[in-house]
Amino acid sequence: AALTLTLAACGGEGAGSGSGDEGAGNGDQDVKIGVAMPTQTYERWIQDGNNVKKGLEDLGYSVDLQFANDDIPTQTQQIDSMITEGVDALVIASIDGTALTSQLDAAAAANIPVIAYDRLIRDSENVDFYTTFDNEAVGVAQANALLRGLGYLDENDEPTGEKGPYNIELFAGSPDDNNAGFFFDGAMSVLQPLIDDGTIVVPSGQTDFGQVTTQRWELETAQKRMEDLLTSTYQGGEKLDGVLAPADVLSRGIINALKGAGMGPTLEDGLPVVTGQDAEIANIKLIDEGVQSSTIFKDTRLLAEQAVKATQSFVEGEEPEANDTDTYDNGVKVVPSYLLEVETVFKDDIQPVLIDSGYFTADEVKAGQ
Ligand code: BGC
Repeated sequence: AALTLTLAACGGEGAGSGSGDEGAGNGDQDVKIGVAMPTQTYERWIQDGNNVKKGLEDLGYSVDLQFANDDIPTQTQQIDSMITEGVDALVIASIDGTALTSQLDAAAAANIPVIAYDRLIRDSENVDFYTTFDNEAVGVAQANALLRGLGYLDENDEPTGEKGPYNIELFAGSPDDNNAGFFFDGAMSVLQPLIDDGTIVVPSGQTDFGQVTTQRWELETAQKRMEDLLTSTYQGGEKLDGVLAPADVLSRGIINALKGAGMGPTLEDGLPVVTGQDAEIANIKLIDEGVQSSTIFKDTRLLAEQAVKATQSFVEGEEPEANDTDTYDNGVKVVPSYLLEVETVFKDDIQPVLIDSGYFTADEVKAGQ
């Protein structure tokens, strides 16, 4: 709060921002924003980076956009040099949400406001705002989509009357990403009661977050774990009905493993129901082809827009508008947040949700088919 007050006090008068040399005025060419993104191995972060950059440039700001190859030292160095460059604000999608404390201390000392982008940065007083999706709702939507794919729920998420039992396996994201726990807890809020009453069975017995995470959200790691599960648990002819997959890149690894074991190749031929997240184009094609069951669409255009708005507010010495002030406790404080909604996408939703909104063209979805 002290940081924000300092900015509010000096930003409007152009009396000097973090760099100590330039005023942070509206549309000021001299305003520079550092944007730190985690990796380019997920399509979404490329879109996020480009959309944030474009939005900030449209305001007349200059932008230093960096991707860190999912390597923590690379990201800390990138942020260090942004601070040295004298940026007026930082927009950060962290790799390890607990690894940036000293960068954030340095940013605060230089009066540089920090916006956590999509992923909460933990254990620091110096996170000024958080723009993200409703991460718990993502997990709930993934679990409901799994149940719908299995035939337990209908398209309005009402029980169909089918009782199972269904054999499923669970995957979670990277344990150092604050979102991963939110996704998993959201999903388990729906699945746990059904595990308890026997509707759902997890034959591997691996149901704790710590047992099912995927370090750094890597495709190969998820594929390997799925292969190992198939070998350890399903070789005796046990049927696998579905897999809770927390992100599309991991869904592709899981589907590789399932197909590699001779399942499918489509849902109609008995490929287990696999969920997802992000609406990556490769996965939208898989959904269109009846291979992957569903994904959760997070419109990164809207997230970028919110991050740009929040940045502009800080640059102009104002408080960004939050729509949630009690969910995201980073271990030191509750960070004021702006949460966006998500949409579940099955095959029939590709046209209305993704193509009609201009997120993808019909040609992109069909290309290569
Ligand atoms: C994001 C997801 C993404 C995952 C892996 C999470 O923090 O919220 O959209 O799939 O990271 O990059």
